[in-house]
Amino acid sequence: MSEAKRPFRLLPQLTPENEHYWKGGARGELCFLRCADCRTFVHPPSPVCPSCLSRQLAPTAVSGRARLLTWTVNHQPWIPGFEPPYVIAIVEIEEQRGLRITTNLVNCTPAELRMDLPVKVLFEEREDGVFLPLFEPARS
Ligand SMILES: [Zn+2]
Repeated sequence: MSEAKRPFRLLPQLTPENEHYWKGGARGELCFLRCADCRTFVHPPSPVCPSCLSRQLAPTAVSGRARLLTWTVNHQPWIPGFEPPYVIAIVEIEEQRGLRITTNLVNCTPAELRMDLPVKVLFEEREDGVFLPLFEPARS
């Protein structure tokens, strides 16, 4: 996405615990912490695996494929520079049931959206090496 066309977006506060998530897009990778002992993906980042209490968590890339669980279309100009309408969505990552993130859907119209729509990640580069994970319909 070109510099001029980037909409304003609220940016995350980077911490050592979440950098893998916000910066993985530099390599084209959507990354989550994964437990080395029970293989569970853990998100939001936590120092302890909620499934087995292991502390052996390491950033691991996923495919970037997901499905649309739910969404809303915002028509209200809440944020100056971030022009409505835009789609706020919760998607479930293909690799693990319950591994969900809240994101924006782009490159689609609200009329195209339906439950379980296959979507895939794309990244919008922002300041400080942050790559926001956004999603678009997987057209293939
Ligand atoms: Zn575990």
